[in-house]
Amino acid sequence: MAVISWWQFVRLPWRRYRIVGQVDAADEIPDKLPHKGAVLVGPASRYKWIAFDCPCPQRHRLIVNLEPSRRPHWRIENPRRLTLRPSIDDRAPERRCHFVLRNGKITWTNNDRRTR
Ligand SMILES: [Zn+2]
Repeated sequence: MAVISWWQFVRLPWRRYRIVGQVDAADEIPDKLPHKGAVLVGPASRYKWIAFDCPCPQRHRLIVNLEPSRRPHWRIENPRRLTLRPSIDDRAPERRCHFVLRNGKITWTNNDRRTR
């Protein structure tokens, strides 16, 4: 009797940020990314950016620099369970989004003025 893996047919919502793909240039980043999906930009030998949607209600696109020669820059410490260092601190006149992405999970910092 065949065993049916029922979980293969159930689309569970992703709970963690993870890398869903790679593109060669920033203008190839899809306008719409999967929920909690991040895209690497640049050749595999040396990624330039990582792009994903902010976890705040606005879901604005974040494009984070990975090149050490440009500042500020971030490091991907764990691509499987996406960890970025240091924290992301995205500021605009109407908002500030300051959070840590570690093991694919978001931790908001205390000093932001989020509107969640
Ligand atoms: Zn935001």
